[in-house]
Amino acid sequence: MKISIIGLGSVGSAVATAVANTGLAREMVLFDRDGVRARAAAEDLGHAAVFSYDIKITAVNNYRAIRGSEIVIIAAGANQRPGETRTDLLRANTAVINDIIPRVMANVDPKNIKLVIVTNPLDVMVMVAQKLSKLPASRVIGTGTMLDSARLRTILARQLSVSPQSINAYVLGEHGDSSMINWHSACVGSVGLNSFCRQTKISLPATTRKTIEHRVHNAAYEIIQGRGATWDGIAGAVADLLRCIVNDERRILTVSIVDGVGDKAVAMSLPRIVGIDGAVATVHPKMDGAEITALRRSARIIRKNYDSI
Ligand code: NAD
Repeated sequence: MKISIIGLGSVGSAVATAVANTGLAREMVLFDRDGVRARAAAEDLGHAAVFSYDIKITAVNNYRAIRGSEIVIIAAGANQRPGETRTDLLRANTAVINDIIPRVMANVDPKNIKLVIVTNPLDVMVMVAQKLSKLPASRVIGTGTMLDSARLRTILARQLSVSPQSINAYVLGEHGDSSMINWHSACVGSVGLNSFCRQTKISLPATTRKTIEHRVHNAAYEIIQGRGATWDGIAGAVADLLRCIVNDERRILTVSIVDGVGDKAVAMSLPRIVGIDGAVATVHPKMDGAEITALRRSARIIRKNYDSI
């Protein structure tokens, strides 16, 4: 399988490493408007590949070389500086997506291609990419709240002393400040979170849940403060999404795709079945009244940001 990555900054490079380590790609093409950076990344990754999978990695300086790709991952664009929100990147990164998508679409097979969007503000970028590409919504897939959900599962796992793999709990809505936690549907193994807490005599009162929400919302800001950017978490999410697509696993992931039509259309994260044809169905979770209100608010914010560009 041939996979292309556009944008080889901190995120694109970490994504390229994670994708190479899945062993799913036979060929990986790297493009960045900074050709020197892309060539250096290809060189470094090529050396690493000697120790793992046999994969051909090439840096290219034009989009013709992405021909034959089945998946194109877009990780180009400005990232947040300390104190900036994802929405602060709206204008700069809309220009980046406007630049990239027509070039990608001129060189791929529209019947098969899947676009994976990583650039922030994620949900609006998915909307822009889907509109420009004219692809079915199911095949323009934003990593959405996969990363936020992973952050939630990590924190809960420590609190409950179980593996994060046993926690089915989702962050939904915007990959951004208005995201919300769907506590109402959260499960540990096969039992609801409240039942699990009762059985294990672990207390998870409203104040603790508020603290967890705060930590999930602020995780990126804290990492950016300490590290300048975030890259490992999102790279793990992209590799997992890729495995799910390529192996047609049909797992449920909180990815962001465009739902609805016309001025009602909005991209945000909900639990969706993901396989070889992309994000093919949405599994609407149970929510309480406050969660429904929070999700609607999140959708309105995303749509308003989209309408502002
Ligand atoms: P970075 O500044 O390190 O790298 C960005 C790269 O994009 C640079 O190499 C730049 O040359 C390239 N680029 C810019 N415009 C381009 C264009 N028109 N064509 C080709 N290449 C172009 O930034 P980063 O830390 O790698 O972050 C990249 C994006 O990923 C940001 O928008 C960031 O907010 C986002 N991000 C998303 C998530 C998520 O969960 N979805 C997580 C972390 C970061």
